[in-house]
Amino acid sequence: MGTKKTALSIEVLEKMSAGERRKYLDGRLKELIAYAYKKAPAIKARFDKAGISPTAVSGIKDLEKLPILRKDELIDLYKNNPPLAGLVTVPLEDLERVYVSPGPIYDPHHQSESFWQRHVQLVRAMGFGKRDVVINTWAYHLVPAGHMFDEALRRAGVTVIPMGVGNTELQVQVMHHLKVTGFFGSTGFFMNIITKAEEMGFDIRKDFNLRLVCIGGEMGGGPIRKLVEEKYGIVTRDAYGTADVGMVAYECSEKNGMHIAENVIVEIINPETGEPIGKDENGEVVITPIDEIYPLIRFGTGDLAGWIEERCPCGRTSLRMTRLLGRVGDAVRTRGMFIHPRQLEPAFARFPEISKCQAVVTRPGHRDELTLRVELKVDEGVDKEKLSQQLSQVVSDAVRIKVDRVEFVARGTIPEGHKLIVDQRVY
Ligand SMILES: [Zn+2]
Repeated sequence: MGTKKTALSIEVLEKMSAGERRKYLDGRLKELIAYAYKKAPAIKARFDKAGISPTAVSGIKDLEKLPILRKDELIDLYKNNPPLAGLVTVPLEDLERVYVSPGPIYDPHHQSESFWQRHVQLVRAMGFGKRDVVINTWAYHLVPAGHMFDEALRRAGVTVIPMGVGNTELQVQVMHHLKVTGFFGSTGFFMNIITKAEEMGFDIRKDFNLRLVCIGGEMGGGPIRKLVEEKYGIVTRDAYGTADVGMVAYECSEKNGMHIAENVIVEIINPETGEPIGKDENGEVVITPIDEIYPLIRFGTGDLAGWIEERCPCGRTSLRMTRLLGRVGDAVRTRGMFIHPRQLEPAFARFPEISKCQAVVTRPGHRDELTLRVELKVDEGVDKEKLSQQLSQVVSDAVRIKVDRVEFVARGTIPEGHKLIVDQRVY
């Protein structure tokens, strides 16, 4: 697809203006779509079914015309059209590896140069490089994660130890013996290793060389990251991606939101209308990787995020998204904003005098109202007025819309195992 002619170096990409980047991505998208339409029958079928000619997409602004490819649909495509669902642009025997993701979905090993350029950029921008020795604990069998990070790290000059998951005691020994400086894996598994190391009598700060860990894969990991940084002096990074399209966004040293990696197009849409979200809204992340081997055009993730408008002080000019706010299905849309239990949980947890709290969305007239119902641990000695104000403020900041009222209810009113947000609107 002529990637050699049109691909730019990362140094150029990271600093280009918003307008230049848009023009560059528009061009690459046009090439990708023309190529995918010719080489991937399932992509052609999707365009034809929607009645859209591939030449009708002149850039990112036209993506909206195309249907979103959902995970369920991906599973059906693989089931109905084996072996590769008509989604891969090369024959099976030209693939270096095939992964088996739940579904089963047979994700091809990514072989396009722009895919690897994106991933090498991502690990370098997070701060990993030549001096690092990293244990990679993502799975090396079935799913793509282990090999994907392994290859990206090696290409970035890092020495990789392919540990995979499990073998906690051995992980500790390897970390100690090989003076490991970095870790890739889930937050939960990282904490298992740290706990095991302490049980084995190690002092994390003194006996290990760990300096930087990429512990993604879980939402709401904030308190654990804080602990890792403060107690053990280890810097943490988060990154975002999916098994099918690979990594999409990363945190730089500023740790304020996630940069969209180069060579990938991210849209955030209102899942109810399909339109792009506005400045103060959030919505579903839809991904189009510039990947000529596996061109999943408009892959709907079901993940919820918003945009960050301000330029990042690190100097990279790429668009930035918030860390994940949750899954679209669990969220309740209120006055244009999706409110997710994951946003409410840490806000509620800041008030030890509260035993249970629940957000309730109602619509008495033509406007959604957000009420917080609160059960206190004890009634005595609590300044309800002050607590209402503080709680409203903290929750409003977390969900980015104003809380209308706080109601104190008798203990036992909110059931055990309650949802953190309920939709009681009647239309
Ligand atoms: Zn930055």
